[in-house]
Amino acid sequence: MDNLPDSCYEYKYESPKAKIVDTCIDCGEFIYEGEEYYDIRGMIICSKCMNEYKREAEIDD
Ligand SMILES: [Zn+2]
Repeated sequence: MDNLPDSCYEYKYESPKAKIVDTCIDCGEFIYEGEEYYDIRGMIICSKCMNEYKREAEIDD
């Protein structure tokens, strides 16, 4: 799930019935009803931002 195609995001914006549930504190994008997001001790982060923060542990030398 690292490289979601753009069409995946567009689909969400096109849905007129989706209710805004919260706002990502990082990018400021709305989080719509039914979307997956992260609530880290009250900090709301959308899955898009979370993917950017996700790291694979590797030795870097
Ligand atoms: Zn975000």
